[in-house]
Amino acid sequence: MKIVIVGGGWAGCAAAVRAAKAGAETVLLERTDMLLGTGQVGGIMRNNGRWTAAEECIAMGGGELFQLIDSCCRHKNISFPGHAHASLYDVGKTPGKTEQYLRSLGIHLRFQSRVTGVELDGSQLKAVKLQDGTRFSADAFLDTTGTAGPTQNCTKYGNGCAMCILRCPSFGGRISLTGLCGIPEMHGKKADGSIGAMSGSCKLMKGSLAPEIVEQLDRDGVVVVPLPPELCEDHLSLKACQQYALPAYSQNLVLLDTGHAKLMTPYFTLAQLHKVPGFETARYEDPYAGGKGNSMRFFAMAPRDDTLRVQGMDNLFCAGEKSGLLVGHTEAIATGTLAGWNAVQCARGLPLLTLPDTLAVGDAVHFVREQMKTEEGVRKKFTFSGSVLFAHMKERGLYTTNTVEVQERVAEAGLTNVFAGEQISHDKNRT
Ligand SMILES: Cc1cc2nc3c(=O)[nH]c(=O)nc-3n(C[C@H](O)[C@H](O)[C@H](O)COP(=O)(O)OP(=O)(O)OC[C@H]3O[C@@H](n4cnc5c(N)ncnc54)[C@H](O)[C@@H]3O)c2cc1C
Repeated sequence: MKIVIVGGGWAGCAAAVRAAKAGAETVLLERTDMLLGTGQVGGIMRNNGRWTAAEECIAMGGGELFQLIDSCCRHKNISFPGHAHASLYDVGKTPGKTEQYLRSLGIHLRFQSRVTGVELDGSQLKAVKLQDGTRFSADAFLDTTGTAGPTQNCTKYGNGCAMCILRCPSFGGRISLTGLCGIPEMHGKKADGSIGAMSGSCKLMKGSLAPEIVEQLDRDGVVVVPLPPELCEDHLSLKACQQYALPAYSQNLVLLDTGHAKLMTPYFTLAQLHKVPGFETARYEDPYAGGKGNSMRFFAMAPRDDTLRVQGMDNLFCAGEKSGLLVGHTEAIATGTLAGWNAVQCARGLPLLTLPDTLAVGDAVHFVREQMKTEEGVRKKFTFSGSVLFAHMKERGLYTTNTVEVQERVAEAGLTNVFAGEQISHDKNRT
């Protein structure tokens, strides 16, 4: 039994872990030369409701990547505007540690393997093909190609290619597996109705900042520098991550220590930045043109059901940003875990798992799908860490930082260690 996953971001890595642990021969195809996709420049975990979602996944037996990330953190339990009990993983070490872990599970990692074609038999996907014609057949497939770029979209809907970590000009841009199968996809919009959203943070080279800023970042994980009104740049409405679209993020420079100095704004004009004390010699680490713009995201999301199967296909599943307007590593890992599990269930001819809405993850998978049916909903972004989805979690009493409470909730749903067990055919929560 073989599973092929296209896209090695957090969603694809989580799906690969689940499929391999369930006993499938697992192949992960990634177009660049590194894992984690946009996770190579992220790092914020466990802030607000992400804490609950991570603990739920652990209680369901799908917590390997959360535990690996916990072991790669530079800071734990920190607060910054609007966000409590956050962890910051080290963006330098985490991609390599994840690669080692996936290899230890026997997952076949294929880098510089950009999928550009498919072989279909009606609604069955038979094989995917790389640019050079290499063919990979499987029993079930995952589309975890994300929604960011390529360069044409960043040029058309943003401020041009800002030379971000996705490195489209070098490796070729994102290509959607769902799109290759001929399934019409959905676009996210900004509040004003225009297509796409700009990635919400840029990274400064720590060594280019004043030593006292670097010391505080290394010690506390966070530095907040108030801006004089004439230097404030308001890019909040452009942001993919609406949880950071608070006034504090335009009135201050908010820096977080992920190895880089992560500046919580999509971009900031370099000449303006150089006027701020301590930033006189600042330069960008990612994207290189962070003074001008950032990558654009939320193009081409797959229509799917709550098992994360792509609608119109029998054996294709999706996760991460591909599965809807879900922003974040936690969101990608949680959906990747469910989709990876269900891909194996599908390949074995067993019923698919739907997570109940008594769990934060199950509720989010369902809520986002429903919201995306409306014009208002496609203008929003959803994350456990803030904005609409966190408010919804709190309304439904799903947000907690009490591990025992989370474990009890998972037990009541009959899902304790479900992802760690044998593939199963009993009926509770299964469709
Ligand atoms: C600058 C930035 C900062 C962020 N910071 C944070 C943060 O601090 N905390 C947080 O929780 N979230 C953060 N996010 C959001 C988070 O990174 C994403 O929402 C999440 O990681 C998406 O994961 P994914 O696997 O769905 O997609 P992606 O990370 O986009 O991964 C998709 C992968 O698929 C590959 N791919 C695409 N097409 C093909 C193809 N045809 N063949 C083979 N491979 C292909 C790509 O190369 C890529 O590696 C940030 C995002 C950005 C851009």
